[in-house]
Amino acid sequence: MEQQKPLIWFQGVGSDPSVFLPIFPVFLINEEPMQRQFVVDLVDKFEQPDSPLEEAIKRYRQVLTRQRLHQPIFRSMVLAAYQSRCAVCSLKQASLLDAAHIIPDNEADGIASVSNGLALCKLHHAAFDNQILGITPDYVVRIREEILHEAGGSMLRFGLQNYEGQKLLTIPKSTHKRPDQQLLHRAYEKFLSAQSS
Ligand SMILES: [Zn+2]
Repeated sequence: MEQQKPLIWFQGVGSDPSVFLPIFPVFLINEEPMQRQFVVDLVDKFEQPDSPLEEAIKRYRQVLTRQRLHQPIFRSMVLAAYQSRCAVCSLKQASLLDAAHIIPDNEADGIASVSNGLALCKLHHAAFDNQILGITPDYVVRIREEILHEAGGSMLRFGLQNYEGQKLLTIPKSTHKRPDQQLLHRAYEKFLSAQSS
């Protein structure tokens, strides 16, 4: 921290202590001795024109914004917590899974914490974001009323209608990684108000 050297941060993901996501470069900008932790900065040094890392960092910046930098960490942590399964249907195909935010990350409380996340397959992620599928604070799946009465093919029947009233099939084993019930409550309110509109 004193020498302002760039570091590689090996961010632990999931319960397996040997699995890490490397993030480079990061800088330590402050120490919080009471919490026995350091504040890591991912971006600020990028803005120092005389830094010897300037060129490498410029290239790095072109691909990654601050926002995007958080996404792979969030995704790895959420998928690990759900053992790479969709919370709703238990689909286990990593390439078809997303780390969904319960409260979107462009909102104030849309923090990149596992408890604001849900591992969802592409279908259930889009359905959740569009208030077609809601999740109660008690982890029960609700499907929008009009969708329940719609006639359609097997994706509609098995992919959506089938899950009405079902408990989430996959939730993290450790309680602090489970979906935060207050955040779910807020997202569920949004689902309910979309019903009446
Ligand atoms: Zn699913």
